[in-house]
Amino acid sequence: MTTPAPQHVHDLVGIGIGPFGLGLAALADPLDDLDAVFVDQAGGFSWHPGMMLEGTTLQVPFLADLVTMADPTSPYSFLAFLKATGRLYSFYIRESFAPLRSEYDAYCRWVAEQLDSLRWRRRALAIEEEGDHLLVTLAVLDAQGATTRFEQLRTRHVALCLGTAPHLPPSLETLAASGGPAAVLHSADYLDRKQDLLEAGSVTVVGSGQSAAEVYRDLLAAAAPRGTRVDWVTRSERFFPMEYTKLTLEMTSPEYTDLHRALPEDVRDGLSRTQRALHKGISADLIDEIHELLYGLTAGGRELPSRLLTAAAVTGARTDADEIVLDLAHSLTGETAEHRTGAVVAATGYRPRDADLLAPLGDRVRRDASGRLDVARDYTVDEPGRLHVLGTEEHTHGVTAPDLGFGAWRASVVLAAVLGREPYPIERAIAFQTFGLPAAH
Ligand SMILES: Cc1cc2nc3c(=O)[nH]c(=O)nc-3n(C[C@H](O)[C@H](O)[C@H](O)COP(=O)(O)OP(=O)(O)OC[C@H]3O[C@@H](n4cnc5c(N)ncnc54)[C@H](O)[C@@H]3O)c2cc1C
Repeated sequence: MTTPAPQHVHDLVGIGIGPFGLGLAALADPLDDLDAVFVDQAGGFSWHPGMMLEGTTLQVPFLADLVTMADPTSPYSFLAFLKATGRLYSFYIRESFAPLRSEYDAYCRWVAEQLDSLRWRRRALAIEEEGDHLLVTLAVLDAQGATTRFEQLRTRHVALCLGTAPHLPPSLETLAASGGPAAVLHSADYLDRKQDLLEAGSVTVVGSGQSAAEVYRDLLAAAAPRGTRVDWVTRSERFFPMEYTKLTLEMTSPEYTDLHRALPEDVRDGLSRTQRALHKGISADLIDEIHELLYGLTAGGRELPSRLLTAAAVTGARTDADEIVLDLAHSLTGETAEHRTGAVVAATGYRPRDADLLAPLGDRVRRDASGRLDVARDYTVDEPGRLHVLGTEEHTHGVTAPDLGFGAWRASVVLAAVLGREPYPIERAIAFQTFGLPAAH
């Protein structure tokens, strides 16, 4: 039964309370002239629980918290969290800029607990126009995820902070869905299924990003003493490091984003492929740790219980008895081979969540030639700019989209559009270099 919608019209409804929605909510919180609420289908904040591996850290400094880059004086900063939990001095003495991933998750939950504007267990189903505002229909969920009733929110603006969903290549997706005896899973579910993997006799990790490397190291360290084999296969031509040099980091900037957004769609798509090392590679420290692990495992002439294959694309997958057979094709030599394994962990990335809920708005929402959301430089996807996309605009805005360090800047832009004033000063240029050619003078 749909609860009759109260006639109250909010200024802003945020859908999705991951880091980007939560950051927007934390920055919205002190603004007295803004009426904002935020909803999420989950029961509470939880950041990539399946990849919360012991000792892993953020790939960005603590300044990339929910608020600091917009408002260093915010009570919702990572430093405020450390102070409140008695860990500020330990963090200071540690002298490392990168928070533990588990600590970042705890920090976000600490912020979430303080915000009255968050509504959990609410799945946004549809957004429609109603007069000069938008109507958001929500399913209210119980603890098992079943719908108990429906609610509607009226609002002038909507922030779509839907995040990304785990992606499996089609061959592996079919096997994962078939639910046979052998495990095929995405790295997002790694910790939940780690025990099954260790009992599978042999495991193959597919992919060569940071997640693949973290799973490979964790699994190999745990599996080798038990005699479980762990192989690592990637279609990339090498296990490449994440690029982390200062002048490249300047691409996480408003002015690089200006340039990227202004390029034609096909040029942007081409760039996304060549810019993979900017955030899809492995941290250099982790590559060293993996090499050290391999070195230790082979000490004394022991045989390595692992094979690492590069330039090896998985072109097909099937089960044979209780094994999985992967068809591999070498992209350089053209060779093909079968690879047998007991289980597969596919660290094959994430794709933007389908914004089905925009369907009622039809062609009021801009799409590009490939049907993706055509996100304007100011993060809106409609005229007159009431729907704002935060975090899934990599195809239009480039490397800044998934970067935690850019979330507060983007949230400042959205808040300024909603309020018609800049509650947080917005830097227009931060890089030493110039992207694009300077105007003639
Ligand atoms: C393992 C891992 C580690 C990462 N580490 C870093 C890092 O160190 N540094 C960095 O810069 N980036 C990192 N990233 C990339 C990125 O910044 C994070 O993935 C981040 O979580 C993105 O935040 P988000 O808010 O866009 O999405 P999410 O965290 O995915 O949150 C989206 C939320 O939207 C909700 N939702 C979706 N649809 C609906 C709906 N219809 N109704 C209601 N709610 C909905 C979901 O329940 C979810 O809670 C990492 C990514 C991964 C996978």
